[in-house]
Amino acid sequence: MLMGSCLQCGSVTLMLLVTVITVDARTLAASDTGAASDIAAASDTEAASDTGAAGDTEAASDTRATSDTAAASDTGAASDTEQLPTNNYQYLDGHQVWRVEEEEGNTTILQQLHVAGVLDVLDHSGPSRTIRVPPESLSEVNYNLQNAGVHYLVLIHDLATYLRIEWYLRHLATHPRVEVTSIGKSVEGRNIWLVHIMPATTCRGGRSAAVMPRHHQRQKHYRAAKARSIWLEAGLHAREWISVSVALQLIHNMVRECSVGRAVHVYVVPMANPDGYVYTWTHQRMWRKNRRRNHGSNCDGVDLNRNWDFQFGVGASSSPCSEIYQGPSSFSEPETQSLRDAMHQVNSVSKLMLVLALHSYGQLLLYPFGHTTEPAPHTPAMRRLGNIFAQHAKVGSGTVYDVMNSATGLYFSSGSTDDWAKGVLNTKFVYTLELRNKVTFLLNADQIFPTGQEVWDGLRAMIEALTPEKLSE
Ligand SMILES: [Zn+2]
Repeated sequence: MLMGSCLQCGSVTLMLLVTVITVDARTLAASDTGAASDIAAASDTEAASDTGAAGDTEAASDTRATSDTAAASDTGAASDTEQLPTNNYQYLDGHQVWRVEEEEGNTTILQQLHVAGVLDVLDHSGPSRTIRVPPESLSEVNYNLQNAGVHYLVLIHDLATYLRIEWYLRHLATHPRVEVTSIGKSVEGRNIWLVHIMPATTCRGGRSAAVMPRHHQRQKHYRAAKARSIWLEAGLHAREWISVSVALQLIHNMVRECSVGRAVHVYVVPMANPDGYVYTWTHQRMWRKNRRRNHGSNCDGVDLNRNWDFQFGVGASSSPCSEIYQGPSSFSEPETQSLRDAMHQVNSVSKLMLVLALHSYGQLLLYPFGHTTEPAPHTPAMRRLGNIFAQHAKVGSGTVYDVMNSATGLYFSSGSTDDWAKGVLNTKFVYTLELRNKVTFLLNADQIFPTGQEVWDGLRAMIEALTPEKLSE
């Protein structure tokens, strides 16, 4: 049914996604195309091309583009897996959002094009006009604006991208080894998705397959007395797009290959700060925090990686205008509350052996603590396992990840995911991974896949080493 409806959507990319991910485990396992890779590429391509626009988009005053995206997303969230809002995705696929500078005569040409039905004016006030341009009208609108001497800036290259990621995750739930659940809502009401990849029950040609009906499989897993699990978090900082892309690639690889996942539950939150992520597409590419409207301040946002309740406030700012604003109190934000509760729940069912928070940039694998240079419990073991990651990540790509303590190697911080996991959950192996590169958040599109691949190489080696026999204190 879904394949049928997608075949009408007219988007090669979307068709590829549907072809890969809406079918059963065999098709997903057999595909080398990689749905996640497609999405990742779609996500970060704009990062490469949008560099120039990043600084300027702050000035955009209207939020209707954001609201439109959220509204479409929420419609989808209300449906169940079998009633996905494919129309929304088809509707927005390839649509762009442009900002046209307000100059004499601009309004007239925009109104003419609006009346002609080739664009949608999203705002009607302020120093600029924000417009939505459907893919079939891109050339026509560009031609008319150029002829009229009207300059514009492309704010969003594909309005469907955020929705597409969410859509992919929801479709991923059709795989017999995968559960996708919302662990809570963001400040603006978007779902925070948790992907649970269950251990493979058998391998066919090195790829995963489930041999039992899904409900039997779940019961077996939940009965497992000493099941182990790992937790991956990505996208907590909005502008670090590569972390979201890498998380999606890891999900794809985890599902496809069972050799590393036979005895471990994998939990992934690929987009921990969805409001911020959308905001980096609609307004400000370099946005870091969530989208909290801070009471009594003109500055928005809380740094979600300073909001956790462990040594809260030691290495963070109490100023709402700071990029590292800790929030009014620990766990003041729904995003961190949701993550905390889900991690507690997972840890109580199958103890977390490894917590890995994906960030960028710097090519560093950091182990706690961040608030003090005093060694955290299991520091030698964390360093050894970290070195295993670095060795294997380097083999294929040559990329060097330096393994170090976050406080001594980077800077003091507190209230972060990794410190909380170590200090409160007492997870043995905890890291923050700063992905490529060493210079900027803005990666060229050709960096996306190799970054995901080297992290997969390193993570796979870590998981394989996570056995008591191979890794002692
Ligand atoms: Zn970060």
